[in-house]
Amino acid sequence: MTKKQKKVLIRIIISTVLLAVLMILEKTGILEKLPFSRWTSLGLFLIPYLVIGYDILKKAGKGIIKGRMLDECFLMAVATIGAFALSEYEEGAAVMLFYQIGELFQSVAVGKSRKNISDLMDIRPDYANKEVDGSIEKVDPDEVSIGDIIVVQPGEKVPLDGKVLSGNSSLDTKALTGESVPRSIKEGEEIISGCINLTGVLRIEVTKEFGESTVSKILELVENASSRKSKSENFISKFARVYTPVVCFGALALAILPPVIRLLMHAAEGPMWSTWVLRGLTFLVISCPCALVISIPLSFFAGIGAASHAGILVKGSNYLERLANTQIAVFDKTGTITKGEFEVSGVHHNEREDEEILRLAAYAECASSHPIAVSLRKHYGKEIDRSLVEDYEEISGEGITAKIEGKTVAVGNEKLMRRIGAEAIPCNHVGTIVHIAIEGSYAGHILIADGIKEGSKEAIEHLKKIGVRDLVMLTGDAKSVGEAVAKEVGMTDVHTELMPGDKVSEVEKLMTGKTVKETLLFVGDGINDAPVLTRADVGVAMGALGSDAAIEAADVVLMDDDLRKLVTGIQISKKTLRIVYENIALALLIKLACLGLGALGFANMWWAIFADVGVMILAVCNSIRALRVPKIK
Ligand code: ADP
Ligand code: MG
Repeated sequence: MTKKQKKVLIRIIISTVLLAVLMILEKTGILEKLPFSRWTSLGLFLIPYLVIGYDILKKAGKGIIKGRMLDECFLMAVATIGAFALSEYEEGAAVMLFYQIGELFQSVAVGKSRKNISDLMDIRPDYANKEVDGSIEKVDPDEVSIGDIIVVQPGEKVPLDGKVLSGNSSLDTKALTGESVPRSIKEGEEIISGCINLTGVLRIEVTKEFGESTVSKILELVENASSRKSKSENFISKFARVYTPVVCFGALALAILPPVIRLLMHAAEGPMWSTWVLRGLTFLVISCPCALVISIPLSFFAGIGAASHAGILVKGSNYLERLANTQIAVFDKTGTITKGEFEVSGVHHNEREDEEILRLAAYAECASSHPIAVSLRKHYGKEIDRSLVEDYEEISGEGITAKIEGKTVAVGNEKLMRRIGAEAIPCNHVGTIVHIAIEGSYAGHILIADGIKEGSKEAIEHLKKIGVRDLVMLTGDAKSVGEAVAKEVGMTDVHTELMPGDKVSEVEKLMTGKTVKETLLFVGDGINDAPVLTRADVGVAMGALGSDAAIEAADVVLMDDDLRKLVTGIQISKKTLRIVYENIALALLIKLACLGLGALGFANMWWAIFADVGVMILAVCNSIRALRVPKIK
């Protein structure tokens, strides 16, 4: 509990004790025997009332001065002061007391789920151990620049992205990926900030400034997530803006109209003014919309927290909300359905040595981040001297052209070969084919194969099970490979040999085939598909552990590239929405019932208090359920 919350708790205790004593005195008839009994009891009951409610009264007063009437403080102030005016002292004080108990409860709950989220996201490093002239200095991560060497001891957080120079260790990436099995790391490998070094000492060469490092990017996302409001949240704040004045005037009408009508009709019997005013006030207390106003954003907040716990970054409540109604899911192939790690399985029709073809391919691919490029460089395995490569050009969806040691080399698919006028010899093996032409004439091709990622098939099955109607794969790769992969994992449709622009138009075509309420999801790795990621209702990026473009263009990021997380994400979304609807239904039902009873005079102020505070507490408890990640069944 914070200091502020403790203070409120103390006030609640004092006020409860005072009120209890006064109520006993009243029941035993002692109060009546005091001199000026009416005024004395008023004075005595005002003490617990003011102890508990002075700040609410102050806020209500400020609201009136600023013209922001009709908020919940105002409602409470009017209701309680009204009760006192009608000599219902106990009720007046009790309403304020319970209101404060509800508020305290809610602030503890909000604090708790916020802490939960920040615990999950507890990846912000406090310092970095920088190596300066052989000795170690503790500095702010912000003060480390690219090329500096840092040392991370076991148990410490990795503060910046970099490359391991020496040391072996295992890393706890739970906060980033939700994956609890430690991942091993060794010399020469890239390391990302935010994970925790578990076993060995690591010396790391920093490759990104702190502001550009994974940890900063993720924190930024999480911090901004709650500012993007879901439709339900927007609806509720609009609803409250209309609802509150309506109930205020309703209460006013309830207090004034029946007695006035009675006067006009000269009826002698029936309830008096004070009774109707009290009913009006009761009506006011019951109708306070706080349960809805508070619990809905809290549910989304908790849902986003649950998602980050599972290694799914959701950039806003609006995206979390849209995930639930996914009807069409569109996937990129390379790096999304497949591993994106190609193994070279052969070099065919080569005019030169295999070694030379592979070397030229690796050199041409020296600067590309495409999975094909990464794999070819890895296969080559040796240092690449970039000064030998000139006029480098990457043709998105086709390949690369560059000048290597003065010779023009083209590396890519058949389209690229056609573009430069080289005659490509087709390959009769199934796999992705990288054609190579030197000085415009065909020099052979490298056959590479990419395996389907573990879990892809399972994920597609689950998606079908939870109601996703169309599962479409789009790929720039050859027809034979694309169709084989799509069939293997169980897609309902596949389009192959697409240029990045064609992917956008395919997605646009699919967008016209669905209603506004249905969600089209695009899942890609951020390479050659950033425009599609932005075009879809919800863009989901894989490969957050690497591709910056993905993190930026996507609305949802699956931190560990596991497609099954997509299913979890949709389930979290569904659960969150279910909780939101439950809360709306619960609050409206109870309130409407009490409002009816209140208007008819069956519900008194005590009922009103329980309707208001009770519903709020129930709704807040229910919201907190959204923090638990549902299991995939
Ligand atoms: P996808 O991710 O669906 O496979 P891309 O648009 O990323 O589609 O790539 C389409 C095709 O273009 C690849 O299958 C490959 O043949 C070719 N290509 C793209 N970039 C490169 C590259 N850097 N090197 C070689 N071929 C490439
Ligand atoms: Mg791709």
